[in-house]
Amino acid sequence: MILGHERQIKYLETVLKKNRMAHAYLFYGPEHVGKLTIAKSFAKALRCQKKIIPISRDRGESVSLFGECGECVSCAGIENDADPEVLRLDALHTLISEKETRKEIPIKDIRELKRIFSLAPLGNAWRVVIINEAEKMSAEAANAFLKLLEEPGAQTLILLVTSSRELLFSTIMSRTQQIQFSLVPHAEINGFLEKKRLPAEERKELCRIARGRPGVLHTLLEDKDALAEERKFLAGVSTGIEEGDIPAAFRIHEHIASDPELRVKYIECAMEILRAKLLLANTPETALFFAKKLKNALRMRTLIETTNVNPRLCLDAFTLGVQSGSKAAAYK
Ligand SMILES: [Zn+2]
Repeated sequence: MILGHERQIKYLETVLKKNRMAHAYLFYGPEHVGKLTIAKSFAKALRCQKKIIPISRDRGESVSLFGECGECVSCAGIENDADPEVLRLDALHTLISEKETRKEIPIKDIRELKRIFSLAPLGNAWRVVIINEAEKMSAEAANAFLKLLEEPGAQTLILLVTSSRELLFSTIMSRTQQIQFSLVPHAEINGFLEKKRLPAEERKELCRIARGRPGVLHTLLEDKDALAEERKFLAGVSTGIEEGDIPAAFRIHEHIASDPELRVKYIECAMEILRAKLLLANTPETALFFAKKLKNALRMRTLIETTNVNPRLCLDAFTLGVQSGSKAAAYK
C-alpha cells in the first residue's frame, strides 16, 4: 500500500521512462512511509517480464507504481526477496553472514556483494541491490561499499534506503542521488480511509495513530491487536499531555526513554495531540501557546535524535511545560 509521495514517484517514473537513471539512489525520510516498498516497485519495474499494467494515479491498494505487473516470476520473486538478481541487505536479510548474531551489516556481506558484482547479471537483465537500513553498515563495510558505489558495473542499480541519513558517511551520500520522503499529510490518509467507507470518528483516530505513516496505517487496518496496542500507547501519551497526571507520565517516560523508536513515537503522538488542540483553540493566546509547544516538541525530537541530551529529562521537562502553561492558557 502506497499513499502520497506523488512527486517522488513521478520523478522516478520519468527517469525510468527516459532511461536516465543514476547508478545509485538514496531514499531517505521517516520510518514506515513507504521508502522500501517504492524501492522494491522500482526494482520490479526494471525486471518485470510483462509490464502490462497501466500506471494508476489512484494508488491506494494498487501495488503497481511504475507499470510492473506484480505477478510474473520476477515481480513475485522481488516481492518475496527471492529474485537472485535483486539483492537485499538489512538487519534481517544477509548474503553470507549469520543474521542471528549481527547488529550491523558487516564487511563480509559487502565483500560478497563485490564478488557478485564481478559476474555479469543473468540474461543481461538489470541487477538491483537494495540496502535497507543503510546506516547499519559497519564503518569497514561502508568503506568497502564506497568502491562499489564508484564502479557498480553495467546494468546495475543501487538503492540505499534509510530513516537515519545523518548516520551515513558523507562520502556515501555524495555518490548517490538523494530522494527525500516525508510524512504523508493527514488529508491524504483520511481520503484513503473515506474510500474504504470508514466512519469519521474511526478515520480521525486512525489518522492520529498512523502519524503520517502509511506503513503503520496498513498494520492498524490488518491487525486489531496492533490497533489496541497503539490505542493504549496513545492513551499513555495523553496521560501527561492532556490529563495532567504528571507522576503517571514520568513513569511512562522512564519506561520508553531508552528506546529510540518508542520515544520518537511518543513525541509524535504528543505532537498529534497538540496539533488537535491548536485547531480547537478559541483564543489567539491559546493558539499561540499550543503553536509554541508544538515547536518545542519538534526541537526536542531533533535534540534527542542528534545530541547526547538525556531523553528522559527532556520528556519530563516538556510535559511539565505543557501542563503548567496549558492551565494558564485555559484561564485566559
Ligand atoms: Zn512483472
